Amino acid sequence: MAFADIKGHDIQVRALINSINADRQASAYIFVGPSGIGKKSIALNFAKFINCSNQDALDEPCEQCLICKQINTMRHPDIFLVSPDSSNTIKIEDIRQIIKRGFLRAYEAKYKVFIIDEAETMTTEAANALLKTLEESSRGTVFILVTSLEKKLPATVISRCRRIKFNALSLTALKEILISDYHLDEKKAHFISFVSEGRVSESLRLKDADILKKKNEKIDDFINSRVSFKDRDDARYRLNLFLGWLRDLLLLKIDRDGYLSGKDNTGLINIDRLNDLSGSRNKYKVSELEDAIDFISEAMFYLDSNVNVKLLNNLTKVKLCKN
Ligand SMILES: [Zn+2]
Repeated sequence: MAFADIKGHDIQVRALINSINADRQASAYIFVGPSGIGKKSIALNFAKFINCSNQDALDEPCEQCLICKQINTMRHPDIFLVSPDSSNTIKIEDIRQIIKRGFLRAYEAKYKVFIIDEAETMTTEAANALLKTLEESSRGTVFILVTSLEKKLPATVISRCRRIKFNALSLTALKEILISDYHLDEKKAHFISFVSEGRVSESLRLKDADILKKKNEKIDDFINSRVSFKDRDDARYRLNLFLGWLRDLLLLKIDRDGYLSGKDNTGLINIDRLNDLSGSRNKYKVSELEDAIDFISEAMFYLDSNVNVKLLNNLTKVKLCKN
């Protein structure tokens, strides 16, 4: 994977490349930002870039040299990736293993690179052990901590790292990527970019499924009074979809932005059903839509606090499925 393949983080990637070309790289970085937006891919590519043996590779790793090829298959002896174990923790033993290797000089690559993915899952002992290593780290060693929950990491660790902040992609940017790189049609790309909230990995997980059809079936279950929740997660998912529908109806009721004339319907979630939406909007008063939206917010709260799902299902039918 090249930097150019990692979309939406041009500024951060450029800053990293420039720091290397100006010989101002740090010995420790922390990549901060929402999960699923490509931080780990950038860390791996960065490891490749700083070690690539091709002198002409100024903006991208060459992908041709032995080092690039070995890193691509995670078989390079100087690149280490640490991830949480099955209990979702990174333990002190994992960090100790790094420390042992970290203090040996690089023997094949220019830099030994240690990527700690989901670094917030380090135990306190693990984080303290890492801190000691960061304080003593030698030239020729680069640590990259990757995290979506920076607050869970000790401030002492964060302060030792150069912090690079990554953002979720804008909905428009993600939509464009899904259309140009993955050949999705506009309506599908639009909906997926909404539900995946700018997270590329989530959008790619959704892109192959017949997501518009499934989404519409679930919305119609509410409209036709036959909604049935399988379990807590299912309830949350279905309520969220219907919330999007109600929100669209509400926006159309107060259509100041020209949603219906198509002037700007990018603020709507269900643009694949614009006709249905505009046909239904006069069935409801604004206050009814607002009440329904309030009910869903409450239902979400109950779902977080262990409500009986069957009970909530019945209540939902009474509150939302009265046409
Ligand atoms: Zn190379």
